[in-house]
Parts: sequence; C-alpha cells; structure tokens
Amino acid sequence: MERSFAQPIDLTCVACGQPFSSDIWLIVDAEERSDLMARIADESIHVVNCPHCGTPHLVEAPLLVHDSAAQTLIFSPQEHRTTAESQEAAQQLGQFLISRIPVAERQPYLATAQVVSSKEELRRVLAGTAVEEDELSLALRALMEAQSADNIRAVAATHAILGTQDALDQLDAYVTQLRQDHHPETAEALAQRVKLLRERPSPALQLIQALLEAASPEERQHILQDRAQELTGNEPAVLEALAEQAQRQQLDAIASDLRVLRTEVLRQLEQSS
Ligand SMILES: [Zn+2]
Repeated sequence: MERSFAQPIDLTCVACGQPFSSDIWLIVDAEERSDLMARIADESIHVVNCPHCGTPHLVEAPLLVHDSAAQTLIFSPQEHRTTAESQEAAQQLGQFLISRIPVAERQPYLATAQVVSSKEELRRVLAGTAVEEDELSLALRALMEAQSADNIRAVAATHAILGTQDALDQLDAYVTQLRQDHHPETAEALAQRVKLLRERPSPALQLIQALLEAASPEERQHILQDRAQELTGNEPAVLEALAEQAQRQQLDAIASDLRVLRTEVLRQLEQSS
C-alpha cells in the first residue's frame, strides 16, 4: 500500500481569481517517491501553480517525511499553528503512515518523529547539514532502539539527560500520551525503559559512566587503573554497542571516543588478567 499521501485542496488564484484544485503532499516516503524528495530539497513540495495562468502559490501545510533506510521520521508542522495543533497533526499523519506499514516492519523509531521548525530546516536535516536534534529526543530514540536491560542502562550512561528528574517526568507524560493515542505496545515498551532508568545502574555501567565523564585522557587512565578490579569483562561489548548506536545517529565523534575508550578498557583487561 502506498505510504505517501496527498490531500486535495481547493484554491482561488491570487492573480487571475479563478478557482482550482490541487493535491498537497502531507506524507512523503523517501523510498517510494524520490521525485517528491527532490521537491522537498528545492522547497517546492508545497508550491502549486495555477493551471489557468501559471502563478505559483505556496500552500501552508504540514509534512511528515519517512525514510526507512535511514530509520528517520521527520515532521514539519504547518506554519502558524499552535504546538497542540501541530502535535495533533503529527499524530494523525504518523498513525496514517504506520497503518500502511506491515506490522512486522514497524520499528520503534516510528514512535517518535523528529520535529523541525520549518521546511527550510527540513531541507537541511535531509541534506545532513542540520543542527543536532535536541538532547532528549536523541536520548529517547536511543532508548527505544535499545532492546536489552544492559543496553538500556548503557544508553542512560551515555545520555546524561536521562538521569534528570525533569527528563523522567517528560518521558512519563509521553507514556500517558502514547496510551491515550492507542499505542499500547510502544507505551509499555517506554514505561519499562523509564522504570529501568529509575533504578540504579549496574556496577559495570557506573564504571563506564565515570570513565566517560573523566575530564581528560589522563584522568580516564587513572580511573581505569584505580578501579581495574571492578571491570566485569562486559564493558568492551557494551562500548561497541554504544559506538554503533552513536554512528547510526551520525554522532561520529562520540562513536570514535567510545571506541578509543573500548581499546583502553581492553588493554586494562589484558593487563589485569
Ligand atoms: Zn491564475
């Protein structure tokens, strides 16, 4: 079933005054419609020309962009709408998109769209030149991708924001919202993760967290040597998983830091054995 979706609208030409109808794209699936992705790239996706006189009209409309290859879902709200209206539109379009994706292909990233402030920002995000996502959205996405308790705790160790009460309260509110919006499985998955976040991290992750928070490579070496007896042997695997996750989110600098730390931990483990 086609995932991209357009809605017909009626317009009156500002130049010649004649009425006409046009389809406005509200959901674009990158895999399906490279032609529409090109129109997003040149910011003409919501520009329609009068069929009578050719005058271009910019139509204000929301747009949800789905790229399954990049595992991204991005929402660009309609101009001049309140946050509540935009959230409602994002939910409706998101539900519509998910309803057209076979159950077996529904991935956790579909639960949270990255919200951009304009079509211009959307263009930049898709071109890979955008500013980073806000910290909590980024942490939330990593959290939903993590499948085991260890990985979830590992995400908490690398996303400090998840240790704050404010973030946990926001995630609780999001769980409630997901339940109200009839996404019981996603709500349950997130609720379980939030519960884990409220528990104390495992000793291995406390150590990884301390290492990541070290102010300098020298300090890191000191911590590693002082606390060598706390190493469980699981740390390199956890660090590799974190590095891969960072890479998927295009956080290459963080991924490379994590791999450096992984090498240091491996060396320490060899020395200790
Ligand atoms: Zn016209």
